[in-house]
Amino acid sequence: MDANLALEARMTQVLTPNYSPQAIHIERGEGCYVYDAEGKRYLDMMGGIATAVLGHCHPAVQAALANQAEKLWHVSNLFLNEPQVELAERLTALCFADQVFFCNSGTEANEAALKLARRHAHDRGEPRFEILAFDGAFHGRTLFALSATGTPAYWEGFGPLVEGVMHVPFGDLAATRNALSERTAAIIVEPLQGESGVRPAPPGFLQGLRELADENGCLLIFDEVQTGIGRTGPLFAHQATGVEPDIMTLAKALGNGIPIGAMLTRASIGASLVPGTHASTFGGNPLAAACACAVLDTLIQGGILEKAQEGAGRLDRGLDAMAARLGSAGVVEVRGSGHLRAVELPRPAADVIRRCQEAGVLVISAGPSNVRLAPPLIISPPLIDEGLAVLEAAIAADLA
Ligand SMILES: *Cc1c(COP(=O)(O)O)cnc(C)c1O
Repeated sequence: MDANLALEARMTQVLTPNYSPQAIHIERGEGCYVYDAEGKRYLDMMGGIATAVLGHCHPAVQAALANQAEKLWHVSNLFLNEPQVELAERLTALCFADQVFFCNSGTEANEAALKLARRHAHDRGEPRFEILAFDGAFHGRTLFALSATGTPAYWEGFGPLVEGVMHVPFGDLAATRNALSERTAAIIVEPLQGESGVRPAPPGFLQGLRELADENGCLLIFDEVQTGIGRTGPLFAHQATGVEPDIMTLAKALGNGIPIGAMLTRASIGASLVPGTHASTFGGNPLAAACACAVLDTLIQGGILEKAQEGAGRLDRGLDAMAARLGSAGVVEVRGSGHLRAVELPRPAADVIRRCQEAGVLVISAGPSNVRLAPPLIISPPLIDEGLAVLEAAIAADLA
């Protein structure tokens, strides 16, 4: 039997069936390529779901991992931890925030942000507990983050959800204003909705939310779990808009594949997390923090973030040209920026994604009819052309 199918057969025996992976057993990765158990090579245009910004097994991150692995992996947050402090110093130097809480995933970062919003109101003696979120938002799968997620199908059978979470249409400032009250603790929003189809906030929307939050006295949380760490162009997506949140959450690309999440805020708000209020056993452990430091250093000092503009321009032109050639029967719309894009098809995307895989290019969906591209930022223009050519052929074959 094919080595890929053999592993699939074992998997279905022992894993809960919540994932239904492609029967591709990826054994090894290097740069923009991954290799399956049969030795087939794939161009990775999805970066482990927007995670591998530096590609697979980047030597700088590998060296940081190996170096830290020889020294110390984990001590808990009961002791001082230099890699964690260094990472927080780097992150706070790069954005609006003064303080960081580390955890292990995106949902935990949002959980921390939403809990902090409630606790901060409590500490000010204000009866604010409501969270305002948006239709189509994805904030994670733990119960508070799931409650803020704006896709009802994900809630099914998990109720009762966390009380006091409301949703209004993404981009609708009037509906947002109507939903705010003296009970609102925070507004949570993705600067660009990733999972539901790579949908950028309409122009002026984030600025409008900032003004509404300030008028109301509630906090503004930007979920940059997917958009952060250079994915859309700037280091953090909101930096392209000039609008700053009170809290920002990160995960996916922060460790380039090593599990780590972060919640960043101003000191005046972070002050509410006094000892005993919130914690994570693994949060910011030396191994993960050392890797994330190497990711940031490589992106910024290593010049990769800057150089990625060239690839982003290539994606702009390539996707526009592809959409023009395929016409409206092939492509409804292309969206996104930097290295996070969607091609919306007039039909379900599953067949196109499968055709791309057969031709050796990995892409993913974002909602049923979108093909999402989230390649490593190190992808070269010729490889972008190669990936887009395969995608175009897959869409064309689907039309035929
Ligand atoms: C992926 C994602 C999450 C959840 O992150 P996990 O690490 O899977 O818990 C939250 N918010 C956004 C915007 C995401 O893209």
